[in-house]
This record gives sequence, structure tokens and C-alpha cells, in this order.
Amino acid sequence: MESPKITKIKRIPESSEEYQLERKKNKEYNERYPQIAFGERALKRINNLKDSKTNPDKHIVLYPNIKDKISDVLENERINLLELCEKRTELFVNFIKEAMTNFDLQEKVVRLISTANFEDTPVDQAVVFLKNNFSKLPNDLLEEMLRFHVAEFQRKSAEFRRQLPELISRFKSMVERAVLKGWLPVNVELLEKRIHNEINFMLYDNLMEPDNIMLGGYNIIEGIIKINSTLSESERENVIDHELTHVAISGRAIVKSETEGSSFGSVTIHQKFGLGFENYKKPDQKLIFTWLNEAVTESISMLLREGNVVSSFYVMERNILKDLIGEGMSQDLILDAYCETEIPEIEGVRVPAWKKFIAKLNEMKNGKGITWLQKKSLECDEYYEKNSKKHEKK
Ligand SMILES: [Zn+2]
Repeated sequence: MESPKITKIKRIPESSEEYQLERKKNKEYNERYPQIAFGERALKRINNLKDSKTNPDKHIVLYPNIKDKISDVLENERINLLELCEKRTELFVNFIKEAMTNFDLQEKVVRLISTANFEDTPVDQAVVFLKNNFSKLPNDLLEEMLRFHVAEFQRKSAEFRRQLPELISRFKSMVERAVLKGWLPVNVELLEKRIHNEINFMLYDNLMEPDNIMLGGYNIIEGIIKINSTLSESERENVIDHELTHVAISGRAIVKSETEGSSFGSVTIHQKFGLGFENYKKPDQKLIFTWLNEAVTESISMLLREGNVVSSFYVMERNILKDLIGEGMSQDLILDAYCETEIPEIEGVRVPAWKKFIAKLNEMKNGKGITWLQKKSLECDEYYEKNSKKHEKK
């Protein structure tokens, strides 16, 4: 496919009203679409069907055989779950384990087990039983499991929303402390805007997106930080710190591009984001920096936490960073390059710190620093491809 022809590029400052307004609008738009849990749509349909039985006047369509319809809906969800079991067994097992934390459900399942043993706990036996007999599970029990799952997701989401202001203010004071200490070159005013004008925070149900193997994620275009609902409170805190580092600390260079023949009008592109820089002449160049960018992001979020530093995330990537620093890449230069935001009004080199970082990288590894990083990035890609089931990307 031929790439679209870009006819006009305009650099815009991050602080400009044009950009800020666009981000705000984007946030408000995405706010209208909260994440839903697996089973939520099916249960809504079931509720409507049950409702149409008791209040037939309310519905234009009357279902002659509501029980069959409900069975169809449940059967469909059962198939979805069984397919999920094939694809990502651990998500399916989590769904079962979660249901077995409900005492009522647990009792009902244990009653179905004909040959109980005394060695395992009733919960363990129920989990194994459900896993092996899911296709034969009575419909009413399946419906109850789905209801419990949806309720749990909603409970967790509400709890997350309650915790959020505290998590954000904790992050902000960590950044302010780092700026005062002088090691983090960030504009605190922009930080405020980036967090409050742009971002929606949402928990997501991994069962709804089984291909997503991340613990969390941030998409700068959508302006959404998504956190996996299965995480514990402290894991959630670490992931939030990491994602907020992407959002609030990594610097940007923003351009508006108008594409010839496009009906969309102009499109906002984050040409630079953290260490990544999109180069239209070398379209894959940004990808070289993906993992190093993650390493720097995780390292900053660890440094922010000062004494309480435990992270099992991005170990392989942080080793690439360690290697570079060990061979003379300056930590300050990396931080400057990562945090640097373009100010288009300033004439001359667009992002001087980033350019300096690239020049230094070029010098390293006997003048093959970029090629070396490219090779390392491919190794990371391959690793994640192989270990996609148990990996720790976020
Ligand atoms: Zn990340």
C-alpha cells in the first residue's frame, strides 16, 4: 500500500490553545465510553428478555420463547469463554477462581462434584471441576458466574476511581520533589495540563480483549490510561507511576499534517514522544527506541519512588540502558532527551538534546550504536513474541 502523501506540516507548541483544546475535547469524547466487563452485554440482553416477560407492553418485539432466547445468549457466552480457555487459559482460570471467591457459587459447584477428595480444598476442587466440565455447566449457574464477574469488575472500577486522586497527587509530589532536587528537567505547569486536561483513567477487563497481554497501557492519541483489572493495589500503583511517567514526563514534538486528498482535515501527530522520534524518511526509526524508551520510563518511575524501589518490569530493556550508561552515555543526556519538548518558536535545531543523544549513540559501539540498538530492540520483540503469555509488558 502506498503511504499517503503529506502536503503540509505545521509545528505546534504543546502549550498552544489549539492543541490544549483538542486534547480536552478528546478526553471528553472518550469519557463517554466507559469500559465494560465480559458478560455485561449478554446480561443486559437477558435482563431485557426477562423484563419483556413481566412487562410485555414495554417491548415492541415479543419473544414467544424467552427461555430459549436466554439459553441462546448464555450458550454464546459459554462458547466465548471456552474459546478464551484455548487462547489464554490463565484468563479463563482467573474467571473461575474469581467466581469461587463467592461462597454461594462455591457451594453450588461443590454440590455438583460427585467424587470429592479430602486432599484438596473445596475451592481447588471446584476450580478443577469447572475447568473440566464447563461445557456442561447448568445455564443458571453460568448466568450467576457472569453476574458475579460483572459486579466484581464494577466494584473494582469504583474502588479504582476512589483511589485515583490520591495516586495522582502522590505522583505529582514525587515529580515536584525530583524537579526541586534538580535531576528531572520537567516543566511542572505542563505536567498539570498533561494529567488533568488529557487523560481518562480506566480499568479494563482482560476477558474483553484477550489479545492484550499488558498490565496497563497508555495511548497518547486516545488519551486513555488503561489498567488491567486483575492487578493488586500495589501493582496498580506501580503501573500508574509508569504510565503517568509516559504521559507527564516524556517530552513531545507536535505537528499538524494535512494530507492530500484526505477528508479528515488536519491530523495531529506526536512526532517526538519520550525518546521516540518519527522520521518520515525512515518510518521504522521510532520503533528502534520503543524498548529503550520503556527502560527509561520504568527507570524514571523507579527513581521517583526513591527508597521504595522494587520493579520486575522491563528488566531486559533496563539492561540495554545499563549497558549504554556503562559505556559512557550520560544519564543526564538521556533524561534531557527523554523530557525534551519542542518549542517551535525557537529557531535552529528542533530538539537539540535529543539530537545530542543520537549523536552520542552514533559514536558508541565503534560507531555502530544505532545498529546495536536496532539489534537489541529486535531481540526484545522476539522475546515478547515467544513469551507473550507470561510476559510483563506494560
Ligand atoms: Zn510503558
